Amino acid sequence: MMRLRSPLARAAMGTLWVAAFVACEDDDDSDDQPIPGWEWSDEQVFETVNAVRAGRSLQPDAWPGGARVAVLLSFDVDNETIALRFGEPTVGALSQGEYGARVALGRVVDLLDRYEIPASFFIPAMSLRINPQMADVIKRSGRHEFAVHGWIHEMNTQLTAEKERELLVRAIDYLTEVAGERPVGYRAPSWNFSPNTLSIIRGLGFTYESSLMADDRPYEILANGEPTGIVELPVEWILDDAPLMNPLGTRYSTPRDVLQVYIDEFDRAYQESTMFLLTMHPHYIGHRSRMVVLEGLIDHIRAHDGVWWATHRAAADYAREQAGLPLP
Ligand SMILES: [Zn+2]
Repeated sequence: MMRLRSPLARAAMGTLWVAAFVACEDDDDSDDQPIPGWEWSDEQVFETVNAVRAGRSLQPDAWPGGARVAVLLSFDVDNETIALRFGEPTVGALSQGEYGARVALGRVVDLLDRYEIPASFFIPAMSLRINPQMADVIKRSGRHEFAVHGWIHEMNTQLTAEKERELLVRAIDYLTEVAGERPVGYRAPSWNFSPNTLSIIRGLGFTYESSLMADDRPYEILANGEPTGIVELPVEWILDDAPLMNPLGTRYSTPRDVLQVYIDEFDRAYQESTMFLLTMHPHYIGHRSRMVVLEGLIDHIRAHDGVWWATHRAAADYAREQAGLPLP
């Protein structure tokens, strides 16, 4: 008989994802090996790809006011939680995160507020608990959105369903208290779903999600082929400052080169009349040499007519309404 071994396999029990993590009969855990895709049955492949998949496009014909493109700026305020989440923080890494709250967030919000640009702030609850003064900075204009980004940037793929849900409930409660209203947007830490994430966020009243990558336009998420009513606002690693602007990473690019990537992405979104969603992190983009990127991008976009700057919530609500999609 085959047995399940890895924590992910145990978490996935009840779905066919277990198929990838079954192990042979002996008791040596070192034998745990994924079964390669070429050994899977068609049924296993289709059940796996259909567990969470893109449904119909929710791209409206035009955005409010007849705008041809929606521009959505996200800031994932991770700060110290990146160093804390695996339980081995170093003083140096914590200080790098601390910069996000101490210097960068104010710099970013000042720029947004100067141009009256709304943005969405996805914040691990613990990041805000460590630096509660960030709430007032974000709330100052009344224009920005608070949204959920886990409790402490936990890796949901390593959690049981119970633990994943419990941490999310705590995060929602804390953000509700700070923001004065219940958040409706979810972004998974590190942009991945466990086998339980979709059903958990459906049960917690989120109306939109922003961690998946199947389109550049908003779409409805399907669960096992069935519509969920949840709007996906898709992201992409090339539209994220973290991988390209980490000087210790393997894909480091100079900020001005990254600006050109963002401009090219925006220009094509404008041509195609869709959506431009950019994810940034204050502790990356908020450094002096990177603010050049954000300022340059905003200047470039502002030189165009027919741009709708929106929070993720506003864009998801509008796309839902135009598509006649009922709330989940
Ligand atoms: Zn994050």
